[in-house]
Amino acid sequence: MIIRKSLREIEGMARAGELVAETIALVGEHIQPGITTVELDRIADEFIREQGGVPTSKGYRGFPAATCISPNSMVVHGIPGEYRVEDGDLISVDVGITLDGLIADSAVTFGVGEITSEAQRLLDVCQEARDAGIAQARPGKHVGDISRAVQVVVEAAGFSVVRSLVGHGVGRSYHEDPQVPNFGEPGRGASLQTGMTLAIEPMITAGGPDVYLHDDEWSISTQDGSLAAHFEHTVAILEEGPRILTLAKTPAKAGLLP
Ligand code: MG
Repeated sequence: MIIRKSLREIEGMARAGELVAETIALVGEHIQPGITTVELDRIADEFIREQGGVPTSKGYRGFPAATCISPNSMVVHGIPGEYRVEDGDLISVDVGITLDGLIADSAVTFGVGEITSEAQRLLDVCQEARDAGIAQARPGKHVGDISRAVQVVVEAAGFSVVRSLVGHGVGRSYHEDPQVPNFGEPGRGASLQTGMTLAIEPMITAGGPDVYLHDDEWSISTQDGSLAAHFEHTVAILEEGPRILTLAKTPAKAGLLP
């Protein structure tokens, strides 16, 4: 069942989303060679709670941490631990926050120091694919239009879409209907209507599309060891088009401008 949100709920999700964006930015500032992913998680966890939020992933189906942090060939759901960040790494950070009962979800892949030109291209293409998907999130379109738009950008660049992982509805729960695959046929799937709120999240690889689940039952990595990238926004479908809910406050709103 797809849950359409009221404008009031969407505003609440945007407040959660601002906090998600701020948390990811804060983690990003600390992603430096030598820091462990569990230290990054602690920084995020403390900040989220100081701001009155709850990290949605902690305890979700038994997940033990406030963030998912996935290095290099790990695509998603990495459990923060003793992995030490190195120069040249790609570090994917995925954060969901519950604030006043509403949830927003976003992810960014950071490059650490000097990364290869191919790694940079993977990051650029993943963001471009996410944005192409978001552009389709309008009333009258279908889930398949988002899926196809993402797929076209990724495959035209010679990269692969991970097919076993999908975006999703979000808002009152962490994972709601509909599923939002990153490949598909235009005009297919659920029709998009105002008030729907979706996590649009291409998960892509520089090699093949296949992935495997680690023994920890969470972490998912590329089968061929190729690099992965993951960019995600929570988006509301409004009459006038998509509204991204997981953006940081503008500098003016944050009081940084006179
Ligand atoms: Mg997420």
